[in-house]
Amino acid sequence: MKPQSQPDVLVVGGGIGGLSSAYALARQGLRVRVLERAKEFGEVGAGLQIAPNCTRILAEYGLLDEARSLGVLPENMVMRDALDSRELTRLDLRDLERRYGYPYMVIHRSDLHGIFLRACERAGVELLTDRTVVGYENTADGARVLLEDGKVESAPLVVAADGLNSVARRLLVGDDVVSSDYVAYRAAVPIEQVRDNGVAEKDVTVYIGPRCHFVQYALRGGDMFNQVAVFESPKALAGQADWGTPDELDAAFEATCDTVRKGIPLMWRDRWWQMLDRDPVENWVHGRIALLGDAAHPPLQYMAQGAIMAIEDGWVLARHYAGRRDWDAALAAYEAVRVEHCRRVQSTAREWGKLWHLDGTPRRRRNEIMRARDTYDYGFTDWVYGPTALTPDEEPAMFTPIPLSTVSGAP
Ligand code: FAD
Repeated sequence: MKPQSQPDVLVVGGGIGGLSSAYALARQGLRVRVLERAKEFGEVGAGLQIAPNCTRILAEYGLLDEARSLGVLPENMVMRDALDSRELTRLDLRDLERRYGYPYMVIHRSDLHGIFLRACERAGVELLTDRTVVGYENTADGARVLLEDGKVESAPLVVAADGLNSVARRLLVGDDVVSSDYVAYRAAVPIEQVRDNGVAEKDVTVYIGPRCHFVQYALRGGDMFNQVAVFESPKALAGQADWGTPDELDAAFEATCDTVRKGIPLMWRDRWWQMLDRDPVENWVHGRIALLGDAAHPPLQYMAQGAIMAIEDGWVLARHYAGRRDWDAALAAYEAVRVEHCRRVQSTAREWGKLWHLDGTPRRRRNEIMRARDTYDYGFTDWVYGPTALTPDEEPAMFTPIPLSTVSGAP
């Protein structure tokens, strides 16, 4: 496609955050240009869980039916102890859909990314690949970005959706990523390969255990099975640079129950994801440059809300622009509500990770508390799965399901 003259918005990064926000803004009649570093648009990885706070937005965008046709609606989310496989607690996802009005879905990452890519194409978003942004600068009437090849692009608004290792974040905030010393392995395999492993094909199952956890669910209409294996790396704790390697994967799950152990040989071994996040920051908007998605709030993935938060960011920004047609006001409103919500999710994800990975007496105490939970008590989920807040007043009170101090004895 021949580049237009200056667009209304430049979006840097064509991941789920960049494309979904480009689409949200294009729906407001804005001319949006996406600059993606890779040679092609695409997503690496396997499954994504998308909760009702995301499917609600997909429905508003008219994209939920397409997502439904590509994804799976599991029946339950079941949490089990990874050592003895006993059930700890569950969410009845049919009842959850009744409560929130929208389904809990699992979908292949590339399918969700493809849905937004096609929606952007239909909405006339300019989608440019092989464009690496290396610099950002505010101007008198907007902002501009410098590309690796020396070209400059400018617009009244620049959205930096360039992910965990964001160049914009480095230049504008200057903080470092934080390592959790945990690493994730993923796999999506034909369902036949796991049928004899004792898996629950209709559920999302999360096995939590000492210094490790394991997630399973079906994908693509039940034809594929997604697995995520996460563990603490002894090499990372020892300060070694090359950590999270496959030999550590096998050792980490040696003591787990049958179903988990049978899943481990199926994990992809040529790529793994070190679990990194960043400390929350309050300043995502710098003049007419706005951070969005993982560039603004990369979480540990234990709440399964990272991609969802990115999609919510674009929805909120577009809604505030629609009400005002004034970028400075829209950006201030965006920052006022999203920073605090995402801070809560990021900090809860860190706590959730510690809770999942307990050992010894704290593990047993945690298990007792989880087993005592009423399946239909939505205190765990209301503050996250309810409608996305547009203003701080709409943001529900945060709920800490099981404060760590109640099980670990720590203050
Ligand atoms: P990214 O996906 O990182 O996209 C950034 C894009 O910017 C990329 O396309 C990149 O090529 C491009 N880019 C980078 N630098 C430049 C540059 N300088 N110039 C131009 N382009 C650039 N989230 C959920 O909601 N549900 C889940 O179940 C879930 N599970 C997860 C499981 C694991 C194991 C992990 C690791 C994460 C999980 N997440 C989940 C989190 C989710 O994957 C991320 O939060 C989400 O993908 C972030 O999207 P993004 O678009 O902000 O960033």
